[in-house]
Amino acid sequence: MMLAARMCGRQYHGIGASRSAGLYGLIRLYAFHTGRVRSRQPRRPRTQGEQFAELLRERMEEQLKHSTPPIKRATYQRPSTYRVPAQPVNQFVEARRRASGVVDHPRLSLVAIILGGAGIYYVCHLEQVPSTGRWRFIDVGPLDEWKMGQEAYRSVLQQYNGRILPSWSVQHAQVNRVAQRIIQACRYLDIHRAQGAPPSQWTVHVVNDPRQKNAFVLPGGHIFVFTGILPVCENDAGLATVLAHEVAHQIARHSAEKMAGSKILMAGGFALDMLGLDIGLSRIMLNLLLSLPNSRRIESEADELGLRIMSQACYDPRQAVQFWQRMNADEARSGPLADSARQLLSTHPVNSQRISNIQHWLPYAERIYHSQHCGSTMPAIQALQRNASLQPIPVN
Ligand SMILES: [Zn+2]
Repeated sequence: MMLAARMCGRQYHGIGASRSAGLYGLIRLYAFHTGRVRSRQPRRPRTQGEQFAELLRERMEEQLKHSTPPIKRATYQRPSTYRVPAQPVNQFVEARRRASGVVDHPRLSLVAIILGGAGIYYVCHLEQVPSTGRWRFIDVGPLDEWKMGQEAYRSVLQQYNGRILPSWSVQHAQVNRVAQRIIQACRYLDIHRAQGAPPSQWTVHVVNDPRQKNAFVLPGGHIFVFTGILPVCENDAGLATVLAHEVAHQIARHSAEKMAGSKILMAGGFALDMLGLDIGLSRIMLNLLLSLPNSRRIESEADELGLRIMSQACYDPRQAVQFWQRMNADEARSGPLADSARQLLSTHPVNSQRISNIQHWLPYAERIYHSQHCGSTMPAIQALQRNASLQPIPVN
């Protein structure tokens, strides 16, 4: 307390004075230690050594201030906003690079290179379907297609083991009779379907499944018909519509074309994945925009080519319209899905569209049919002889 009273520089007397002086002295002592006030005691004059040391310290601080850059606190920057400090660049090279349109983003550049390579590959593997003239992408050779067909054939035979009807059954006899006439009519097309392709090894099987109204063909010429479609066919001409459609798939190598198309889908999905687009959504979009329309185009081509083949085989092409009308009525009973929705989501054209297409192709098919002189016995034999001598089906 005495020390605090002494620091205030005044003399107090009495108990009250002594208490006030003590409190004031405590405040002063606190302020002194915290640097808020300076001691009132007169400064001692600095010696020459102290003045020199002070001068030297100021000079050194001055030099340090000019020689070292200010230290900045490191801050985190996101990679997307991080920018490399500007480097001196060759303005001419930079201008040419920008003019060439090369994108700055490395991922986009990679995608552009892949797409460029894929485009060249695509153009190099374009060819025309021999029987219709349609351009398409196909990079699967006839021999590879045949090998895959043989593997699929063994697998399907195992799958339907015990349900394939014997050759002496009525259904097999009917299907085989019509199939042989169709196969005979398209021998010329079969031989010329692709360069280096072996002739199709036609086999016909009838699968006992009344619920399946369907038929399919495997690469190599292995035809499978389900018994469920036979009532819809009603007669040989209806069955010829189905079989000629399946034979047309084999003639036009549609299986190989679908295999090639799946590669485009995979490449497209990969490119969209590289761009960071959602892979599931992009696959659905690719399927809707590329795969399904191409599948429907292939089916339409099989309808058109099949119509010509059945006409060449002396089956009335007008029966094809009636077959698809029966099929349409059958499907209308099975589901209320609108034609437009069915068309969008289906691998096949809707039946109403098929009927419309066939009616459009019908005049030309009827010309082929009548040119065969199918109504009389002798011209029919001559027509079969012409088919046997591998005369082509006339095209538009
Ligand atoms: Zn088909």
